[in-house]
Amino acid sequence: MSEALLHTYATWAEIVLAVVTFVSLFFITAPYGRHGRGGWGPEISQRLAWVLMELPAVALWIGIYAMGSHAWEAAPLALLVIWQIHYVNRTFVFPFRIRADGKTTPVSIVLTAVVFNSLNAYVNARWVSEFGSYDTSWLYDARFLVGAAVFATGFAINQHADWVLMNLRKPGETGYKIPRGGLYAYITCPNYFGEILEWTGWAIATWSLAGLSFALYTIANLAPRARDHHRWYQSKFSDYPKERRALVPFVW
Ligand code: NDP
Repeated sequence: MSEALLHTYATWAEIVLAVVTFVSLFFITAPYGRHGRGGWGPEISQRLAWVLMELPAVALWIGIYAMGSHAWEAAPLALLVIWQIHYVNRTFVFPFRIRADGKTTPVSIVLTAVVFNSLNAYVNARWVSEFGSYDTSWLYDARFLVGAAVFATGFAINQHADWVLMNLRKPGETGYKIPRGGLYAYITCPNYFGEILEWTGWAIATWSLAGLSFALYTIANLAPRARDHHRWYQSKFSDYPKERRALVPFVW
């Protein structure tokens, strides 16, 4: 089998995984963060979990990218920068900014995320520097420019939303408060909304099935979790804002 065919199969496997994830998460709430509960095996510190889970999206991604025959061309490099802006923050900055003292994550969740992020690194990095075709004119193509703008908008929304959450707890606190400000006026999970916009922008900027597969997976993973968070807030806080939707302003 040629590697190009293998890559196509890997990309479709990610799309199938998105469908399986979406259906599963309607029945099982992923057991981390506020939805953590016993019965999912041994646990490790939440901070370490984040670093381990996201590391393949930085290190493996760069390793796979570097092996591609277009690795030193301008447009693939621009796409690398876009990807890594998100993942360097998520892997090495975000875990050390959250108030996670004493919080743990099941090793089973960490392993699942490592496997997915490794598959995703292969699908996207290999596409960008080997199987995709992006000459320098791609940097002026409307699809790249619109995609990069959508990504940047999503990144800004995600960063602001995460920042609001990080600042809800005082040092040493572990409980939950109602977040306010920015898109929290409209939705419960602007961090997830921003993340979905980011990878939708990536799909547009790469104009590829590889990029689309990750955008679909992100929606499949985060839409059910947004529903779970939304219901959780409504059950915990009697004064939770009634007009607030779960994930999409004014819609859902
Ligand atoms: P959450 O919103 O559940 O939590 C983010 C952080 O804020 C955690 O430290 C959490 O604490 C804390 N927090 C959340 N709500 C409150 C509150 N009301 N009061 C006080 N503290 C609060 O996000 P996730 O952990 O699910 O995700 C974190 C980031 O990772 C997001 O930006 C998300 O978009 C991204 N992500 C992306 C995925 C993808 O498929 N691309 C998958 C999963 C996450 P605690 O942990 O104690 O609840």
